[in-house]
Amino acid sequence: MYNKRDEFTEKTKKIMQQRVGNCCSNPHCRCLTTGPNHNPEKATNIGVAAHITAASENGPRYDASLSSEDRSSILNGIWLCQNCSKLIDSDQNTYTVGLIQRWKAHSEEMTRLSIEGRELKPDQQYEGYFCPHCDTFCKTGVSVCLGCNSDIYYGSTPAAWRQDVQIGMMTSALLYIAILLFLPDHLNSQINTSFPLFLGLPFMVFFITGATITILSGIWFAKKKDTERRSNPPLFVRGRH
Ligand SMILES: [Zn+2]
Ligand SMILES: [Zn+2]
Repeated sequence: MYNKRDEFTEKTKKIMQQRVGNCCSNPHCRCLTTGPNHNPEKATNIGVAAHITAASENGPRYDASLSSEDRSSILNGIWLCQNCSKLIDSDQNTYTVGLIQRWKAHSEEMTRLSIEGRELKPDQQYEGYFCPHCDTFCKTGVSVCLGCNSDIYYGSTPAAWRQDVQIGMMTSALLYIAILLFLPDHLNSQINTSFPLFLGLPFMVFFITGATITILSGIWFAKKKDTERRSNPPLFVRGRH
């Protein structure tokens, strides 16, 4: 059976394109979608008026509750480059209606700021942090500052990690020895038993148990501190580059 497609009109496509300044609306892409062609009488266009919910049944994110009119309305469209329009249609679980609508709103907002002559600061466009040494903006996830080559750590630095392991190991080793030293004495005096020192554990058992507990505590403590640090802004460490 013929599958009806609710296409956008040329006028709708044009307005969609102009509302985002002719740029792809994927915030991570934002590429220009037209440019000069080798033929001086032609322009190259890589922009696509993509459907947010599909134009026809079985298409990505198809919404049967929409009327034909809704489906071809500008509210159901987003201006993208060819790559990004392919991307959203190849994985509708990642690229949901909600996400695509946020892209569209973000892109139109960026374009509005731009046309009002307001300078777009990088932190308005991307998630990230300014380097405290050179003030270069570094996007989240980047591991080296492009301005001054500082290393960026999102959790513990290697030095802090080593120190945390040591603290964790030392604390648990001391606790382990203290408990085994004082527990028998305490029990003996309280409930009149006669546990020997260190509960009479054979030396190897005492040693291996102690070593295992100590190492595991060290790693556990360092991991805990690393997780805590990850909820704070990253550390910029000026390297020896
Ligand atoms: Zn794109
Ligand atoms: Zn820097």
